[in-house]
Amino acid sequence: MDNCWICSNIADSEEHKFKASDLKRFHGKKMNALYISKKIIELNSYKDKSLKFPKVICTNCNNNLTRPHDDAYDKFVIFCFENHEQILKTQVIDFEEIYGENWELEKVNLYRYYAKHAGCKIVTSNIKADLKNLSEFIKGNIQVTDFLVKFERKAGVQAIMHAFNLADKYNHLYNSETTYWNIHIAPKFGGWLSNNYMTTNWVFGTNINTNSKNIFKNKYETILLTDNHFFEIKEQEDDTEFSRIKFIDQYIIGFENSHNKTTELKVEYFENLILANNTAHNNS
Ligand SMILES: [Zn+2]
Repeated sequence: MDNCWICSNIADSEEHKFKASDLKRFHGKKMNALYISKKIIELNSYKDKSLKFPKVICTNCNNNLTRPHDDAYDKFVIFCFENHEQILKTQVIDFEEIYGENWELEKVNLYRYYAKHAGCKIVTSNIKADLKNLSEFIKGNIQVTDFLVKFERKAGVQAIMHAFNLADKYNHLYNSETTYWNIHIAPKFGGWLSNNYMTTNWVFGTNINTNSKNIFKNKYETILLTDNHFFEIKEQEDDTEFSRIKFIDQYIIGFENSHNKTTELKVEYFENLILANNTAHNNS
């Protein structure tokens, strides 16, 4: 068994790739859903193995240390779902509106939730990286230099949600593949998680974030708005029907990847997030 990447005890716990509360909230304990990975898997339970990371953290970190981070995440995604029209209009997330007077700690705890997710993605990608700064942040550091987060709304995902919700209740959860680059010098990693209308991008790399103090002091975060002008539907071949798998591939993954269809474009996008992050809130 490996060691927990957060505290280095024996890793005996399986963190969910998608939060169990997200799955239970929308799907109930008996679920009937499709998990789209390299292949499509039918799911009957939120405890399905394919929804979990291999054992890379320990029970104590997963159940005790990161519980407040999980709670901050739950409040965040519920707020973003219920207030998605307002967020689209203002293009701003107000953390005091979500968390009340405790927003400063809760905002950091939300970022710690994404730090845990990112760390698990990095460890399971099998590319060597030093996660010490990330684990110190999760264990209580109030700054983080190797990690950043940027929120985004994707018009294409919204279109899918509205279309699907006409027929049935649709819950959109997406966990991107991990992009990595620069791996022989100083490896960087990027990815994102979507929970319905809200996408959270994360980037990891040594000293990529010189600004976390300013960011954590600010109760507002602006969000990126991504249009769907890039989107083109491929020509239909005459002899094939438009299957569910093709639909998922072209629409859901297409809208999630948005403008960044190739690895090169994804790397460029994440590098731009690093640049923008280090100038954000400097005047506040
Ligand atoms: Zn641990």
